[in-house]
Amino acid sequence: MSGVPAKKSLGQNFLADRRYLAPILAAAELSASDAVLEIGPGRAVLTEALAEQVACLVAVEIDGRLIEPLQQRFAGQPHVHIVHGDILEQAPDQWIAVACLRSPISYKVVANLPYYITSAVLRHLLESHVPPTLAVVMVQWEVAQRICAVPGDMSLLAASVQFYAEPTLVQRVPAAAFSPRPKVDSAILQLRVRLQPAVEVDPLLFFRVVRAGFSQKRKQIHNSLAAGLLLDKTTVNRWLADAGIQPARRAETFSMAEWGALCRTCPSPISS
Ligand code: SAM
Repeated sequence: MSGVPAKKSLGQNFLADRRYLAPILAAAELSASDAVLEIGPGRAVLTEALAEQVACLVAVEIDGRLIEPLQQRFAGQPHVHIVHGDILEQAPDQWIAVACLRSPISYKVVANLPYYITSAVLRHLLESHVPPTLAVVMVQWEVAQRICAVPGDMSLLAASVQFYAEPTLVQRVPAAAFSPRPKVDSAILQLRVRLQPAVEVDPLLFFRVVRAGFSQKRKQIHNSLAAGLLLDKTTVNRWLADAGIQPARRAETFSMAEWGALCRTCPSPISS
């Protein structure tokens, strides 16, 4: 596999420093009965380590050049399934269901994610009907920091991920740990998926309101909501008063509970 040159367009920065395997595996809290979905096994550094610890491993790789060598490498391990495909082309639990023959499905995701589809993959996992119970992913250091932000530094990305999961920044991983070396450092990020979203509101409404709140960078919330949801100022100010929120606040300062209060008191044209 090392003979196959890395393809930049597929985000192929392979983990070269094996010292980072232990913290990834520890964060995944693996047990011998686990089913695990790995996104992009690449040259199999992480795949080999996972294969030793779990009952069923499905590794989905988009790069056709790597499939035969990967299948040969794991030929003697029937609990390891190397699948050629794009992780986004079907629901995450479906990759597991077909290969691991599991029902009901409970699974984890462990991956060194290709940078170019980090957000798309996180949405794909968290918004799925059967999300993983736990995901441990390597992402860009700045992205991990943004996802783990607290009120004061929140963003649409942080609120979206925290709606579905409790994020923990496990460890920084320097760019030098990968080959070829990327321009930026990475982080091991643990996402413990919540049994229920962080706030008990319709997810569609939550995302409409939060997206509107962050629609205008650094603007006061009354302006962002009015512009983002096409509401007049009187309606927005009455709404904010009902939710107990100062109109001059900025979306970056909101807690999840405050987004919940906004959703619960929103004027009816938005909620319908
Ligand atoms: N897991 C390996 C490691 O840690 O060294 C490789 C990680 S590398 C950052 C990302 C891997 O994801 C590559 O092997 C790449 O080909 C694969 N990949 C990229 N896009 C993909 C997609 N849409 N679906 C599945 N695999 C993908």
